[in-house]
Amino acid sequence: MVDFIGTRRVQELVRDLGTAPFIAGLEREIEADYRRWSELEKSPRHATHSPLGVIELMPASDGRQYAFKYVNGHPKNTAKGLLTVMAFGVLADVETGYPLALAEMTLTTALRTAATSVVAARALARRDSRVMALIGNGSQSEFQAIAFHDALGVRELRLYDVDPHATDKLVANLARAQLPGLRVVRCRSAAEAAAGADIITTITADKRNAFILTPEMIAPGMHLNAVGGDCPGKTELHPDILRRPDARVVVEFEPQSRVEGEIQQMPADFPVVELTRVLTEGAGGRTRESDVTIFDSVGFALEDFTALRYVYRLHRERRGERTSIDLIPDLQDPKDLYALIARPRVVREPVPELLEA
Ligand code: NAD
Repeated sequence: MVDFIGTRRVQELVRDLGTAPFIAGLEREIEADYRRWSELEKSPRHATHSPLGVIELMPASDGRQYAFKYVNGHPKNTAKGLLTVMAFGVLADVETGYPLALAEMTLTTALRTAATSVVAARALARRDSRVMALIGNGSQSEFQAIAFHDALGVRELRLYDVDPHATDKLVANLARAQLPGLRVVRCRSAAEAAAGADIITTITADKRNAFILTPEMIAPGMHLNAVGGDCPGKTELHPDILRRPDARVVVEFEPQSRVEGEIQQMPADFPVVELTRVLTEGAGGRTRESDVTIFDSVGFALEDFTALRYVYRLHRERRGERTSIDLIPDLQDPKDLYALIARPRVVREPVPELLEA
């Protein structure tokens, strides 16, 4: 039997731990896995594009465990009452190839994306960063807000979305989350949100080369957490921001980010550094208070591998609802798969002979 970790179970685990502590634990594990980069088998994700979106498969392994995530990205889905991003994944044992768990990864992706943003911002943003613009107030936004408030000490959030209802929802959810000392400011434009911010998180969904941030919005010393541009033809930053002489651009996994990240707009030799090197060697990050650091995030399979292992461990350790599914046949003789469908043998009664009088 395979563990099934559904949406209800992940909800239960997050509520049990608390959202900020859950993200903080995940952040520590994502950073630890980025630090053991060479031990992991990595590949760019496999993306199947269509006019309205993308479906992606994201595998990663450390030789002991293997994980993959199935995830979509369909910015117009919300008009149909569906999520832009939903996902599920499998964690497996490499020795046997058998799955350990089949898990929801929609909530888990939002949590791991926020945790990864924090790993990068902790290494790149100025330590005195207290004000964050949050542009794009959809599904991912609360997770980013909570993580940056808790881990980086953000005390003012400047919100903007083209859809005012998305901002209404975010404001209401942040009020309910009761984040101590947090001031929330609604802005009328991305420029107004960016003004005076130490960190700008862009997490919008639009399948085009959008200019959510333009050069005049960027001040020296800012950290940009650019999360929404994650597909060919889907970006958020004006390329002149990347071209600034004081810009330091950090990516997750260069071969994937060259195709999917903000840097798809730049020549193939445009200088970037991978997050692992920033963490392990202090390379390529902020050298001066006035540098503009840019985390060009697209989402990498390692983060899902870590997240699946984290959720699986919590699921196993903590009390609550446990479900298994019969995804894999359980056989008495592993060479007799046919036994699953063979009809039980019918023992026929002997037919009485007709005796002539
Ligand atoms: P969502 O559809 O729930 O929210 C996106 C929001 O962006 C919407 O409220 C929309 O109105 C707003 N928006 C669109 N264009 C805008 C603009 N020009 N200015 C301001 N706001 C604008 O989507 P979501 O689940 O929150 O995901 C947001 C984006 O993040 C998606 O593009 C998704 O692919 C990406 N994402 C990236 C990662 C990663 O690891 N890098 C992980 C998850 C999601």
